[in-house]
Amino acid sequence: MLSPAPKNAPLDAALFRRKLSTWYRAHARVLPWRNVTDPYRTWLSEVMLQQTRVAAVIEHYQHFLRRFPTILALALAPEAEVLASWSGLGYYRRARMLHKAAKFVTEELGGALPSTSVELRTLPGIGEYTSAAIASIAFGESIAVVDGNVERVLLRLTGRPEKRDASGRAFVQQQASALVPNRRISKRANAAGDHNQAMMELGATICLPKAPLCLNCPVYSMCRTRGEHLTPPRKVQLSRPAAYLLSLRKRGTNTEVLLQLRTEDASLMPGMYELPPLPQDSVQGREPMLRLRHAITNTNYYVQVYAPSGPQDRGLRRSVPAAKNDLHWIQTNRLATRPLTGLTRKVLQRLGVMTVHLPKLPATKTPSHPA
Ligand code: SF4
Repeated sequence: MLSPAPKNAPLDAALFRRKLSTWYRAHARVLPWRNVTDPYRTWLSEVMLQQTRVAAVIEHYQHFLRRFPTILALALAPEAEVLASWSGLGYYRRARMLHKAAKFVTEELGGALPSTSVELRTLPGIGEYTSAAIASIAFGESIAVVDGNVERVLLRLTGRPEKRDASGRAFVQQQASALVPNRRISKRANAAGDHNQAMMELGATICLPKAPLCLNCPVYSMCRTRGEHLTPPRKVQLSRPAAYLLSLRKRGTNTEVLLQLRTEDASLMPGMYELPPLPQDSVQGREPMLRLRHAITNTNYYVQVYAPSGPQDRGLRRSVPAAKNDLHWIQTNRLATRPLTGLTRKVLQRLGVMTVHLPKLPATKTPSHPA
């Protein structure tokens, strides 16, 4: 077995890039937003991928693009429709900002997304990470992208302990910038974009947080820690119980479900519909019709759903603390067009109240970036 690279030897950037790029070309996952030429698709994928699993994004990305295939289509849509298409992905502020930015691009920039990281950062919801990702992947700008995966790879590679302060961030940024290909020395216009994607792919599939697959790592011979680097423990997961009411009624041939509209000034998910929450003491001794676990960031919600099923349950509806004006009967066949919280969507689908069709995009031609 090779001994680890000496602690103080500088990283050979050219060798590192070669090893990484050879590995990436052979092992990159096939994902619908890879090798696309439309910057809007790159932008959308980068926003959706923030704090969200790749598998969940694949499903929503395709559905969203079918509904809003261009920046213009997104800009012209009502916000409620954008939120409805985002339903299930969580962090709805991302959808609101994306919509706002699409309007700005359409109304002020002639419909074309800016092509540099500096200009991209002037758009709503686009910060340092997203601007660098779009600029490098869609436009070939030589700028490093640093997400959690890249940070972990660089810290392990260099053997530097993780520090969550400004000096720690500056170190990671400097290391990432030193490795990213410079467009002037590269024959390939998208070398920086490919490199950034390869770094993130390495962190996501090989240099895993708990058990890195070092023996499969393309830069094993250059790594100074090889799995020995401590990753700080994740924040403790919290557990919370949550109870909701499922109330259905018939109106003619339609079935309606009672939902609560979260107020516009709510700190979380304003303007979204959810099943009316019930106080815990109102459900003592009752048997729920559904139990499920729903994780949001570092909290596991143990959700129980109750439905009035007889005269003894009539009080359940009266236990809902929401104001009457915030409660709405919504036809179940219109639920797909309403902005539902992810949990409400999950419950209604699980109980067969809502069926959602997420149509697959037809196989699209995804030409490569120009060589
Ligand atoms: S050798 Fe292991 S620890 Fe080092 S970069 Fe590769 S996967 Fe990560």
